[in-house]
Amino acid sequence: MRVLFIFLDGIGLGENDPATNPFAQAQMPNLNKLLDGRSLFKESAPFHGERATLLAVDPAVGVSGLPQSATGQAILVTGINIPAELGYHYGPKPNPDVAAYLKEATLFSRFTKEGKKAALLNAYPPRYFDGIDSGKRLYSSIPLAVTNAGLPLFRHEDLLAGRALSADFTGNGWRTMLGFTDAPMLDTQHAGQTLGTLAKEYDFSLFEYWASDYAGHKQQMETAVGLMETFDEVLGGLIEAWEDGLILITSDHGNMEDLSTRKHTNADVPALVIGDKTARDKFTQDMADLTEIAPAIWKTVMG
Ligand SMILES: [Zn+2]
Repeated sequence: MRVLFIFLDGIGLGENDPATNPFAQAQMPNLNKLLDGRSLFKESAPFHGERATLLAVDPAVGVSGLPQSATGQAILVTGINIPAELGYHYGPKPNPDVAAYLKEATLFSRFTKEGKKAALLNAYPPRYFDGIDSGKRLYSSIPLAVTNAGLPLFRHEDLLAGRALSADFTGNGWRTMLGFTDAPMLDTQHAGQTLGTLAKEYDFSLFEYWASDYAGHKQQMETAVGLMETFDEVLGGLIEAWEDGLILITSDHGNMEDLSTRKHTNADVPALVIGDKTARDKFTQDMADLTEIAPAIWKTVMG
């Protein structure tokens, strides 16, 4: 069964407090519908509903210190307790020790070896590749895992051809911030439908949304509320277009759910799984920490 993994960077399950948590302010009717009126709060998990399951998952994996992006994302795509093996959380970009785990052990490499189709659905702009080529920019763990598997990262031409999505879902950033006046503009609903349509081409696909972690570091309540409301509209379009398979929404560590700090948090992260109940129950069985996400994806896709 296929899996679409939507990675929301820096989203933990926090308190239902409008002063610090954007989820307590954001209007998210599509999410609420999946969770029988709940939102993504600590008090909402565990939840087992008609259309979705929500669990609280520990990203600290038994290692002291605040969880970080390089190790967190590397756990998500390998299932290996890398912080325990190294003795620390690390980020935002992988150091050589973390990068060493992102070769053969990742879902992208292993699915490709098994003849399954896998992809990262984000489109990256030319300046991203310029930064990589010049050595000024390091890959994050997820794109590093993708390129190590011999899979392409999608580019400007893929965005134009409708093979990939903009990191902000709609393409607005490509036009207003990157200056690509030819970038397709999708409304949020349509962006969600596109995500669902693209995912049908693959056994395993991942979409990476990093703006949430950024808003958390900047402690920007209004921006964060807007991002989550946009995400909710995308989710509505996606669910409409979704036919079979599981949608997984999870994160690498908390951050945006507590804007009283600009740092990451020690909160559990949500594992929100949408789709067939039997498959969901199997997927979420015994899931307690972040290392159990990748094996669950593997088993679901391999059947
Ligand atoms: Zn961060």
